[in-house]
Amino acid sequence: MGMKKPVVFIDRDGTINVDGGYINHADNFILYPFAAQAIRMLNTHGYLAVVVTNQSGIAKGFYTEEVMHELHGEMKTRLARGGARVDAIYYCPHDPDAKIEQYRMVCRCRKPDTGMLEQAIAELPIDTTRMTMVGDKYGDIQTGFKMNCRTIMLNTGYGAGEYRLKSSGWARQPDYRAENLLEAIGIVLNK
Ligand SMILES: [Mg+2]
Ligand SMILES: [Zn+2]
Repeated sequence: MGMKKPVVFIDRDGTINVDGGYINHADNFILYPFAAQAIRMLNTHGYLAVVVTNQSGIAKGFYTEEVMHELHGEMKTRLARGGARVDAIYYCPHDPDAKIEQYRMVCRCRKPDTGMLEQAIAELPIDTTRMTMVGDKYGDIQTGFKMNCRTIMLNTGYGAGEYRLKSSGWARQPDYRAENLLEAIGIVLNK
C-alpha cells in the first residue's frame, strides 16, 4: 500500500442522486447536477471518494444486485463525463425482514452499523485520522460517529426534513450541516 489518503464516505441516494425510493432503472437514477464537480474536487485534492449505500431494495425483491451494478456503471459513466471518479462502492443488500431468504439477516454492514466503512479501511489506503462521512440521514451520521469520522449532514434528500423533525432528540449533533454534497466537500477541503 502506498501513502495513506484522507477519505470521504459518501452516501448515495439523496446525496449523489435524487432519492427516488427504490431505484430500479437508469431512467429514475437522477444524478444531482453538482455531484460530479463535488467528487472531482476530492479526486484532484488527493482524497478517496468511497460510496457507502444501503440497498435493502435487493432484499425486498424490488431489484436485483445485477440491476444495482448496472446502475452503478451508469453512475460512474455520468460522473466520468464530469471528470469525476469514485474510488470504491460498498453496498448492503440485506434486510432483517427480507422477502428473499439469502438477504434476510441482521448484518453488520447496514448503516447505521459500520461494516462497509470497516471493509473500506481494510481494503483501501485510508488515513483513518482523516475520515469524513456525508449523508442525508441521521443513520449516515451515526455511522460516522462510530468510526470517529467528521460528519456532515446534508439538506438534500431526506436531510432537511429529518433534521427539522427529529434533531432535537439526537444525543449528538452532526459536526456540520451543508446544503448539498458540493457545499459539504467545500467544508472538507477548507478545514
Ligand atoms: Mg441517503
Ligand atoms: Zn448488510
